[in-house]
Amino acid sequence: MKQLKDYEQQLKTCSKCGLCQSVCPIYKVTGKETIISRGKFNLLLGLLKGDLKFTKNMDNALSLCLNCKACDDFCPSSIKTTEILCAFKNQYRKFCFPFKYDSLFFFKMFFLGLLFNLYRVFNFSFLVNKLNSFIKKFGSLGELLLLFDNISRIKVKRKKTKNDTKKLKVIYFEGCFTKYINPSTKNALLNQLEKHGVEIIQKKFDCCGISALYSGKKELFEKLKEKNSELLNEDCNYIVCDCASCLSTLKEYKKDFSSKLIDIFELISILEKKKFNEKITYHLPCHLRDKKKEIKRLIKNNFINYEEMDDFDVCCGFAGDFSLKFPKISEKISQQKAKNIQKTTADYVLTSCPGCFVGLTKGLIHSNINKNVLNIIEYIDINS
Ligand code: SF4
Ligand code: SF4
Repeated sequence: MKQLKDYEQQLKTCSKCGLCQSVCPIYKVTGKETIISRGKFNLLLGLLKGDLKFTKNMDNALSLCLNCKACDDFCPSSIKTTEILCAFKNQYRKFCFPFKYDSLFFFKMFFLGLLFNLYRVFNFSFLVNKLNSFIKKFGSLGELLLLFDNISRIKVKRKKTKNDTKKLKVIYFEGCFTKYINPSTKNALLNQLEKHGVEIIQKKFDCCGISALYSGKKELFEKLKEKNSELLNEDCNYIVCDCASCLSTLKEYKKDFSSKLIDIFELISILEKKKFNEKITYHLPCHLRDKKKEIKRLIKNNFINYEEMDDFDVCCGFAGDFSLKFPKISEKISQQKAKNIQKTTADYVLTSCPGCFVGLTKGLIHSNINKNVLNIIEYIDINS
């Protein structure tokens, strides 16, 4: 990873045209100039000149980013804001936190996984269903419980279909959210691949490293990248992901296997032409932005009653740690998304990323809108 000073020339190529303003989801809800790339670059140039210092306030201002890459794609000077912010984070971390706490993320995921499993084992969903309207009276706490309940419901069970054709060999990269929190997505993915006679290779992968990458833990990211790359370096037709964020992070590894990386919906669409009749709408995860045209075409082909929501390709506001660090802004973006969903007549909201599943569900619960949100592979498996 390059250092912040390596981007000085690039930062100076910003023409201050302000086009990044029109696409930044955070700017849309806050109206603050320092949020957009142009504003962030002024702070970064101040740091490089020595006029500003690495402080907590500076970190807070530059952390106000969903890493949605909308500005990266839109900037006429081709400046990659998200890459530059990673370099800042890395330097800030070294400057302010020279000690390491690599295992925190894994501990968090393990602990959350344990909570979700206990919730399922003791069938708290039953209780929450009965007390639904009462729970809503508890404001944010009640909404959090309803969100927890939505995530923990297992929608898809494992089927085990026998099909010995084995026409394709596929490595399955299981994302952390699926592994620790929502096994339903994995069940759906395995059911569908097995049904189509795919040989599925499962390995003990580590986290793809997305959280490490965007929080400036460069060394941890490199460690995860090397371990996963070694396991991915095996002869196969495809490497399939159940999560758009994992898929985009594996692409960041920039290894030879990159051309084999594929999203599960794309792979299923290659294996079988489907036609679903129910009214659906689709939210495009930011991390599938590079596949926007292709995914849109496949959605239209497979779903006869697809209705596009306004801004279907704009961030849901979740963005992992961002929603914990800036809950108010995250909520505002999720609520805007919920409004766009409500304007459609769709019965189902489908997406391809577990993080977006959480962001969309959160916005709908808060806005009191009753729509079913599902990972697209879960929907396909339930309706096949
Ligand atoms: S779009 Fe690019 S060139 Fe224009 S102000 Fe934003 S960062 Fe600068
Ligand atoms: S990556 Fe997204 S949230 Fe971050 S500055 Fe660019 S447009 Fe705004």
